Amino acid sequence: MSDGFVGYRSQLVETLQGKGVRDMSVLRAIATIPRHLFVPESLRHRAYEDIALPIGSGQTISQPYVQARSCELVKLTGRERVLEIGTGSGYQTALLAMLAETVFSVERVADLARHAHDVIRGLDLPNITIMHNDGTLGWKPSAPYDAIIVAAASPGIPQPLVAQLAPGGRMVIPVGSQAEQVLTLVTKHMEDEAYDETAVHDVRFVPLLGEFGFAEAG
Ligand code: SAH
Repeated sequence: MSDGFVGYRSQLVETLQGKGVRDMSVLRAIATIPRHLFVPESLRHRAYEDIALPIGSGQTISQPYVQARSCELVKLTGRERVLEIGTGSGYQTALLAMLAETVFSVERVADLARHAHDVIRGLDLPNITIMHNDGTLGWKPSAPYDAIIVAAASPGIPQPLVAQLAPGGRMVIPVGSQAEQVLTLVTKHMEDEAYDETAVHDVRFVPLLGEFGFAEAG
């Protein structure tokens, strides 16, 4: 995309490479997707720093490094069906759309889902569907998924998400308390519903609220 931000995106790519991101298709997606369009206008000048930023409704666009690592961990080749829980700004949804065949993304805050949909409509990414729903239930109509990325902190691994993962499928999910979590890679076995868990990285995400997440206040 040729806009005034190409140089900033290249710098972000270099920063992420410096932190150990190696997957060239992920780095290419970071170099292409205009992150500044996914943050509030008043924060555009900070859009290419490797930091989380507020996006309204008490939510944040996640740190690019964590998003790039998450994309890298689920090992996408361009042929996968992917489910994302927590659309938020829609930035990671856009990255995933460049890395997989189809992306389904579920967001529980209606305003955010609508806004992400509007931003993505302005880009050439026809393989994205955004839904407004409780993502802890997954999205059964389009299951199974080769990969699932959960972009909010979960007290555990929601059973519906494991059930909707294809045999051999991969899921990245921050698991822990509301204050701190461990980014966890879940790999489902080929032959049954069992899965392996690998701890990857300490992280801090906003909470996953819903039936199989943290209880909603009030
Ligand atoms: N990848 C997004 C991250 C947004 S923060 C981005 O970079 O912009 C996490 C998002 O998860 C928030 O928008 C929050 O509203 C959403 N969320 C929390 N609980 C959810 C649930 N049960 N289902 C779907 N989305 C949820």
